[in-house]
Amino acid sequence: MSEPVRKGGGIVGKVVPRAERSMLVQAYVPETAKGMAVLMKHFFKNTKELVFGQRNDPVLEALDDGINTISYPEQQRPYPLRNRGVHRLTLREDGSPRCVACLCCSTACPAQCIYIEPAEYPEGDKRRGYERYPAKFVIDELRCIFCGFCVEACPCDAIRMDTGEHPVPYDSRDQFIYDKDILTAQKGRDGERKTRNPRHEPGDPTHPGITRLAHH
Ligand code: SF4
Ligand code: SF4
Repeated sequence: MSEPVRKGGGIVGKVVPRAERSMLVQAYVPETAKGMAVLMKHFFKNTKELVFGQRNDPVLEALDDGINTISYPEQQRPYPLRNRGVHRLTLREDGSPRCVACLCCSTACPAQCIYIEPAEYPEGDKRRGYERYPAKFVIDELRCIFCGFCVEACPCDAIRMDTGEHPVPYDSRDQFIYDKDILTAQKGRDGERKTRNPRHEPGDPTHPGITRLAHH
């Protein structure tokens, strides 16, 4: 049992006793034999799978290269459909980001790794006064904890994590900073940069006609 260490009337720590090591453990030979037994068990199991083709792993079965390991990252197991990959900014029909720079995602982000600089559309643009666009949209993928809160918070289906990609292991922090160009260039699993979710642009017959000056 560990004894409390006292200093100045209070307990400042505990002395943890060393684990008992019997003569058998000290001799190393029995422990080495145990390790070899585990090794040989897996060796014969894998050899049996290799020789008789009894593979229970569908990924290994599909590779069919006679090897019971995967050469990651060249060979990868498929991610589950709900996997949260690196972010992408989805596009409208005209190719501009769907994002209206409302800052909901950056507000919801617990890691505070989204930086957005909103900007107004120019005079004469139908969207001016109704919505803004992100002049800058940056995500630090290294700080991101892949919680998906930003995706949940977005009212415009403008940010998604359905790329099926994980961040590449870069060698400097800067490379994990994904700017608007990188984020809009990412594709979803379906190979699209848009979404099937319709948008109703100002001026469209389906648009509800709400502006900052003229409400409903
Ligand atoms: S997934 Fe979570 S941590 Fe990452 S950017 Fe979105 S809200 Fe922030
Ligand atoms: S991505 Fe969505 S939540 Fe984030 S600023 Fe753009 S519209 Fe708002």
